[in-house]
Amino acid sequence: MSRCTAGFRRRWTASGWPSRSWRNAQRVIAMSELSIGFIGLGNMGWHMATNLLRAGYSVHVYDALPETAQRFSQQVGGHAASSLAQLAEASDVVITMLPNGKVVQAVVLGTGENDDRLLGHLKRGAVLIDMSSSDPSDSQHLQSALAQAGVTLLDAPVSGAVPRAEAGTLTIMLGAPQGYALDTVKAVLGAMGNSVIETGPVGSGHAMKALNNYVAAIGLSAASEAIKVGALFGLSAKTMIDIMGTSTGKNFAVEHIFPVHILGEQFNTGFKLALLEKDVGIARNMVELKQANAPFINLTSQEWGRARQQLGEVADNSEYFKYAQSQ
Ligand code: NAD
Repeated sequence: MSRCTAGFRRRWTASGWPSRSWRNAQRVIAMSELSIGFIGLGNMGWHMATNLLRAGYSVHVYDALPETAQRFSQQVGGHAASSLAQLAEASDVVITMLPNGKVVQAVVLGTGENDDRLLGHLKRGAVLIDMSSSDPSDSQHLQSALAQAGVTLLDAPVSGAVPRAEAGTLTIMLGAPQGYALDTVKAVLGAMGNSVIETGPVGSGHAMKALNNYVAAIGLSAASEAIKVGALFGLSAKTMIDIMGTSTGKNFAVEHIFPVHILGEQFNTGFKLALLEKDVGIARNMVELKQANAPFINLTSQEWGRARQQLGEVADNSEYFKYAQSQ
């Protein structure tokens, strides 16, 4: 049976970090002994939780739509938790894969006195890994609330979209407290991704993810605008994508989104425009927080905000092209 190390039930030193002797003494346990709670079985989370099960972990799943969790346990396996509290009590590691950091906060802290929530039910020594694309400021707020309950927060957002979530080959950006023993966490993340890159302290993974997605969004905007102007000069969209795809204008959208989803009119990448707009908005919040001069981030956020207003909450991100053409 494959094995991994358990670094969660760590001993604390006066400085608040696990002692070296404890870290050295981390016992090796079977993966199936490690219980993982997975919250958010959407386009990405469904495949990620599936890969955790395939890797041999015991997985408890929860979704705001109970029928989704039930369907997952029937079709894929694992245990459908009836509440967040039940999931927390059963889990050593809890993973959130939710629309945004505000939803993660609501799930962890609750929204009213008697709400179902994780806090108050998580085991002391548990780890909560937020793999959603959240705002780094939200993660830092959550970190202190969880620390008081003896729970460590890590941020580990992902890139690679649905096909790589399914294949278990996501790129994972890992923010963690300095000195935190990451062996077990990396083994868990390794079931969902083939590249786990440490980015720095808690929140740095989320900051990296927002900036990555700003670059992805502006790439799609740039190609959409180029095609609109090219048409005025008699260039067809297909010719332009063929040429940009083998030229210096190549980017992720040109290579992967235009050929199938835009020119092929499928518009179903599995990544909602609203989520990408949210990510660019996070990048804009980061700019505002640090009072940085980043005009393209602000402009991209503004344009994607307008596109979201025009196209609605369920539009696919590839439909940004329709917005660009309509302007
Ligand atoms: P999605 O909308 O398909 O799934 C979200 C899931 O969360 C749904 O099943 C929904 O029912 C559930 N949910 C919502 N509120 C909840 C709550 N309060 N409690 C429990 N469950 C709740 O979204 P997705 O595309 O899977 O994306 C999830 C996260 O991953 C987002 O932060 C997104 O920005 C990020 N992301 C998405 C992609 C992609 O290609 N789709 C790629 C990388 C990162």
